[in-house]
Amino acid sequence: MILELVKTAVLLLSLCLLQGINTRLLGHHPHAARISAGVIYGGICVIGMMTPINFSPGVIVDGRSAVLAMAGFFGGPLVGSVAMLIAAAYRTLLGGTGALTGVSIICSSMLLGLAYRAAASKGWVSRGPSQFLIFGVIVHLVALLLFAGLPAEQRSAFFEALALPYLLVLAPATALLGMLLQDLDNRIQTERALAGSEARLRAIAHAMPDLVLVLDEDGRYVEVISQNERLLVADINGLIGKRMHDVLPAQDADRFLELIRRTLDEDSPKSIEYNLQTLAGPRTFEGRCQVLETRPEDRPAVLFLARDISERVAAEQERRIAAIAFESQQGMIITDADTVMLRVNNAFTDITGYREAEVIGKKTRMLGSGRHSLAFYQAMWDELLGTGTWQGEVWNRRKNGETYPQALSINAVRDERGQVTHYVAALTDISLRKSTEEEIRTLAFFDHLTQLPNRRLLMDRLGQALALSARSSRYGALMFIDLDDFRNINDLLGHHNGDVLLQQAAKRLCGVAGESNTVARFGGDEFVVLVDELDGDEDAARQVAENIGMRALAALKAPYTLEGHTQQSSASVGIALFRDHERSVEELMKQADLSMNEAKHRGKNRLCFYDPVMQETVTARLRLEEEIRLGTEAGEFLVLYQPQYDQRGTMLGVEALVRWQHPKRGFVSPDQFIHVAERAGLMPALGLHVLNIACDQLAKWARRPSTQTLSIAVNISAQQLYSDAFVEQVLDALTRSGAPADRLTLELTESLLLDDMEEAIERMSRLRARGIRFSIDDFGTGYSSLSYLQRLPLDQLKIDRSFVKNLPDSTSGLAIVKAVIALAHALDLKVIAEGVELEAQRGVLNDNGCHHFQGFLFARPMQIEAVEALLQVRDAEAAGSNTAAIIGA
Ligand code: C2E
Ligand code: CA
Ligand code: CA
Repeated sequence: MILELVKTAVLLLSLCLLQGINTRLLGHHPHAARISAGVIYGGICVIGMMTPINFSPGVIVDGRSAVLAMAGFFGGPLVGSVAMLIAAAYRTLLGGTGALTGVSIICSSMLLGLAYRAAASKGWVSRGPSQFLIFGVIVHLVALLLFAGLPAEQRSAFFEALALPYLLVLAPATALLGMLLQDLDNRIQTERALAGSEARLRAIAHAMPDLVLVLDEDGRYVEVISQNERLLVADINGLIGKRMHDVLPAQDADRFLELIRRTLDEDSPKSIEYNLQTLAGPRTFEGRCQVLETRPEDRPAVLFLARDISERVAAEQERRIAAIAFESQQGMIITDADTVMLRVNNAFTDITGYREAEVIGKKTRMLGSGRHSLAFYQAMWDELLGTGTWQGEVWNRRKNGETYPQALSINAVRDERGQVTHYVAALTDISLRKSTEEEIRTLAFFDHLTQLPNRRLLMDRLGQALALSARSSRYGALMFIDLDDFRNINDLLGHHNGDVLLQQAAKRLCGVAGESNTVARFGGDEFVVLVDELDGDEDAARQVAENIGMRALAALKAPYTLEGHTQQSSASVGIALFRDHERSVEELMKQADLSMNEAKHRGKNRLCFYDPVMQETVTARLRLEEEIRLGTEAGEFLVLYQPQYDQRGTMLGVEALVRWQHPKRGFVSPDQFIHVAERAGLMPALGLHVLNIACDQLAKWARRPSTQTLSIAVNISAQQLYSDAFVEQVLDALTRSGAPADRLTLELTESLLLDDMEEAIERMSRLRARGIRFSIDDFGTGYSSLSYLQRLPLDQLKIDRSFVKNLPDSTSGLAIVKAVIALAHALDLKVIAEGVELEAQRGVLNDNGCHHFQGFLFARPMQIEAVEALLQVRDAEAAGSNTAAIIGA
């Protein structure tokens, strides 16, 4: 009996085996697996029923209850039903008195199995050995209960002989079967989970765009997974089993090996970024190295994941470069297609004054100055949209309202479909450049005081005017305008007032000349008016030019308002007419200048047209200059002396007056050559010549007691006084000759002193410190003011001949003479009158306090021998004490 039951148990075990095979074979087809499981469960039941415990005919006792319970429990409804149907069918086939009981046990066991399954899945019961045992007991108690449905004698026989062993064997057998199947189930579950996770891992590994490497401690490639084999240094098969040192440059291999060792030593993941020459070219990777838990071939290994970051690195680099470029010196604006500003840089803020936050989201229109026409912007957009780029200069407005010029370049950014997505604008503030350009232009072509064109621009326009007149055959006129005695205004009223007067004069001239003609300033007090397109007839053209010239004269003569008071002035105008290219620009300028000088010469405040005779005068002057130059070298210049006397008739000294003994013209008076020599720059040399002769004479006189008190006055020209070597030359002349300094008087004219008062004072002071005296010649004709007389280191005033000439009859002349004398006394200066021709003049002068005289009444300029003769007579007369005889001579 027991043996029978053990046989049953073995059958049950074979069930486990079969079920295991079934699951393995059909694991991938769950439905089929379930049906076949049901068949196996059912089949086992059938086998069990074929070899039952022989109890009584028609009653079959076997382990099918355990099998079907498990079919329900582990297999579920489908498996259980299949098994149940097979078992029930077979039992029905076998028939007998126990058939119904057998079938009901089949059903109850399976249903109990399902119930247990449901309870377990709900968590009400678990699947441990004790639970299976209790379940086995329940299943077989129910079976025992069903055995009660057997016919009476079979029933009592069963309960007597079999009930207890049945329960004792099959309940534990059910539990055992449950445990075995549970174990099988668990194993299958585990296997499935493992297979699933491995498949998942593999899928993940293959899905990664990167490299997955397994490397052992020596850097040997154990496994290589790569979706893109081009990212490897060689193909996969060429790598497996090789060492890194076999395939990588030594330097890289060393670095990786070091990383692997470190990862293994420290047992912590490590990162690395590296560049490698791959099959796809040089690439940059980001790698991560991690210890691998399993040891392939029992050697420590690492898992190395690498990601190709070449693109990212390149993009980053590009972005960095772009960012640096964006923050350049240039202002940058990025807008969308609607010119709404998206980004601006710091330079933009510097230029416009707008911070980023103030402009983002706004249209670039807000930066405009309103200076440009609609047409300008239209043209700009046409070009920008047509060519994708625009460059030019634009006036924009800063935040503070100031408009400024900027160099602007705009580029359109298009997407792959050619649609404009953005605009990028670069702007540079060029206001500085503009203003310098403007300034340079102004400096180069305009006079900064009056803003009139300067000489350069005028020359340019004159060239154009000449060309124009050649084409049109009409006359043009070039007018030189020079303010009369402007220097005096400058000196007396200060440079500021002089400037104001010039500005007013410039305005007046512009008014007279009209817009179509050019008024230029030539520096100083010289202006030029260029009038073109006059008449084709010379007389008519002359008439119009004269008209303009006269109006200019009138305009310049009107009083000027300078710092609260009015000032009178006048001008001289010279006009040269031109037509065609008959004369060059330079010639024309010379002619107009010449005419202007002629106008001055004729008494100022007048107008002169160019006349060829003027040219002759100039030519003559040039010839004269040349002759003076040659004459200086040939020693043609002599010195005459004109004695000076006191009221007692005593000769005090002489004035040295130069004469030119011309080989052809004879004696030439200084009035005819001094101004020519001065203009030609010949005066310093000529003056020095006179000075040296005078000093020699002084030295001679100084050696004779009878003449040692005599002094000599020497005239000094402006050029001489201001020449660099003047002071040294005078001192040299004294030293060289041995003449006493305090017997030398230098005569300077007022106008000469006014040229550069400070310099004059400085030079005079240095000479006066050596004892040299100073006299102001022609006093009263200039603009001397008390203040300047006070500052000059003077000894004497010389009353000009023009005042003496009108004495004694002219009351105004007398008034001036009296004033000069009073002034001299007040300033403690000596006073001498020149040009005394009449005794009456001498008398009036003497009566009014001027006791020194020079003039034809006393003596004319004479050779030194004549002076010496006079002195001898004087000495003789002194003995006879009759000076009157000399005066009469
Ligand atoms: P100045 O310095 O006023 O010289 C006096 C001029 O008056 C001399 O003319 C003299 O001959 C003339 N004169 C003297 N007494 C009388 C008179 O009673 N009646 C008239 N009508 N004339 C009289 P001169 O010699 O022809 O000199 C003319 C000017 O030439 C001088 O005027 C002086 O400014 C200049 N000059 C003469 N010699 C020199 C010189 O060596 N150097 C410089 N820089 N200038 C000189
Ligand atoms: Ca003089
Ligand atoms: Ca004089």
